[in-house]
Amino acid sequence: MFPGPLGISLAGKALKEGVWSLDAVDIRRFARDRHGTVDDAPFGGGAGMVMKADVLSAAIEAAAPPGAPRLLMSPRGVPFSQARARALAAGPGVVVVCGRFEGVDERVIEAQALEEVAVGDFVLSGGEIAAMAVIDSCVRLLPGVMGEPSSANEESFEDGLLEYPHYTRPASWTGPDGIERRVPEILVSGNHGKVAAWRRQQREEITRRRRPDLWARRQAARTDEEK
Ligand code: SAH
Repeated sequence: MFPGPLGISLAGKALKEGVWSLDAVDIRRFARDRHGTVDDAPFGGGAGMVMKADVLSAAIEAAAPPGAPRLLMSPRGVPFSQARARALAAGPGVVVVCGRFEGVDERVIEAQALEEVAVGDFVLSGGEIAAMAVIDSCVRLLPGVMGEPSSANEESFEDGLLEYPHYTRPASWTGPDGIERRVPEILVSGNHGKVAAWRRQQREEITRRRRPDLWARRQAARTDEEK
């Protein structure tokens, strides 16, 4: 599966240039029998299979560079965030463990001090796609990966606000509904101060409406003076 989509576009170019590197470890290589068994039935019964502690732990040992955080992709983990992506991107690297089946033996999580991370309140069939999301969000923050370094700072979540709406040519466009839509006048005014103020107001409006949770957190974090 790897590098998969991480091998193309900006992340892929940076991978080829050596800005970042990826070492995909096949857990099956660490199986202890000739069938390459990595999973077994759950103690206590129930549906599905569980990834074996001994096999998975050996794979993690082989992968883990000392000092790197060890994440386990898991729907019951802490929600992944832009702040976490920034912290990881500034660090020495990361080990990302991808679960399969029903999940992994709980004892590996304890023994390897795995930090459970979720990419959303939904269930994937494996941790790989979640891992790609995590890795991609980190890679694009590495110096030299994004075209314009400034473009990461006004983005959604960077300061607790969602992004403002974007427009490009043509300035007037008639969609399939037959309605002509013009770009907001202020964006073609050439007045940078007004454009900035409009974008700011849009970001606040969109955040308040779509993500009351983000808005409340932001309001709570700000001093009375800033509000
Ligand atoms: N039985 C588990 C789901 C297992 S899904 C439960 O009910 O919670 C199989 C694997 O996919 C998991 O071990 C995990 O690595 C990955 N996965 C699924 N959903 C995920 C999510 N939202 N975030 C991160 N990883 C996820």
